[in-house]
Amino acid sequence: MLRLTNTLTGKQEAFVPADAETVRIYTCGPTVYNFVHIGNLRTYIFEDILRRHLASKWKITHVMNITDIDDKIINRSVETGKDLKSYTAPYTAAFFEDCEKLRIQKPEIITAATDYIPEMVDLVSRLLESGHAYREGDSIYFRISRFPNYGRLSRLDKRELKIGARVDADEYEKEEPRDFVLWKAPKDPHEPRWQAAFGEGRPGWHLECSAMAMKYLGETLDIHCGGVDNIFPHHENEIAQSEAATGRPFVRFWIHGEHLLVDGEKMAKSKGNFFTLRDLIDKGYDPLAIRYLLVSVRYRKQLNFTFDGLREATAALDRIKEFVFRLKGVKLQPGSNAKVAAAIAQAREQFEAALDDDLNTSAALAALFVLIGHGNVALSEGAVQEDDRAEILKWLQVVDERLAIIPPMEDLVQDQNEVAEIESLVERRNEARRNRDFAMADKIKKELIDRGVLIEDTREGTRWRRK
Ligand SMILES: [Zn+2]
Repeated sequence: MLRLTNTLTGKQEAFVPADAETVRIYTCGPTVYNFVHIGNLRTYIFEDILRRHLASKWKITHVMNITDIDDKIINRSVETGKDLKSYTAPYTAAFFEDCEKLRIQKPEIITAATDYIPEMVDLVSRLLESGHAYREGDSIYFRISRFPNYGRLSRLDKRELKIGARVDADEYEKEEPRDFVLWKAPKDPHEPRWQAAFGEGRPGWHLECSAMAMKYLGETLDIHCGGVDNIFPHHENEIAQSEAATGRPFVRFWIHGEHLLVDGEKMAKSKGNFFTLRDLIDKGYDPLAIRYLLVSVRYRKQLNFTFDGLREATAALDRIKEFVFRLKGVKLQPGSNAKVAAAIAQAREQFEAALDDDLNTSAALAALFVLIGHGNVALSEGAVQEDDRAEILKWLQVVDERLAIIPPMEDLVQDQNEVAEIESLVERRNEARRNRDFAMADKIKKELIDRGVLIEDTREGTRWRRK
């Protein structure tokens, strides 16, 4: 049974989709004014793991928005003299390129905010009619005093609410809980605007997620995710405007990924510890190692990103690759070994249990490496048989469907040719030794070492492995 920590209750709860069939999930997407950084990518990777694990149990409809209008985007597009779409389009494309490199699956439905203005206008009209929204100047605000549950998600004390005070900014601090803007009248002639019965303007940031989530997923979603920094004000405001309009709970499970730190500190351009995926690829790191590092710590824990950690992730990937390479290349007897089969069954069970336990990815990876350890010993002892190999390879595919961290199999296919070459060299060396041509045997051994292959002569014959 899958258990997830629900930010709304602060507790781990058993999760099943409301209709027991399809998970309706919404995740907040990027604000496309720049390249996303690895802290953002950690959130998208956690959501990807959640998505993959949910999809192993149920059908899934996943909606993600692209914020292509907000304060920052408007300022940048005005500065660069570009219209909104031509300013944001390259960053939207770059985001999906980054996701692809990190093996993050695409949601079923992707919605750019500026394509859903009529839905947002409709939501504002409903809130005006019900008295949850009001006009001040030419803008429309949400009246938090009319929504008694305001602050429940972010555990805000009612006494802290600044009743009657307003905030126009898209982002603001928890210390400033005020009536937030739903629809902003243009202040500058360059600002983009849309017509509405309640006056021309543009949506405040929070409005888009409520309007687009409810359009595709209904009034009550199963799951809504984001990073912890989205809890206030963004998700708090989404709840207020959605529930005020529908009178129903907006989301059953709120799930939030923790921060990423770099060398123990918050990432900031001024500190020189700010990285995009592109920065790390330019430094020569493999996106798969970056994904591995981001997956290796459970989403609810802060993750400290370091270059040592990235090197360890690379070594862990090499260990997986090495094992698959060895497993695929070795000649085996038909049948199955009871001890090996039991180790596979145990790994499988522990892996599922770890992911069901609030996406404990570090325990899931531990189950994988315990099996690799057993597998390597069993290979050295000649205990692995053909059916065991097939079972292990089948399970590694499951691991890859869930975590997407198994190095690409194409490389391993090429390696299979290499295995044949190495085995023929080992055989030629054995022949030379049988003929007591030790000079030739040493020459071949040196050739193998140069290729990164270590050999070991045992009673059962010559074994080899890669350095
Ligand atoms: Zn959102």
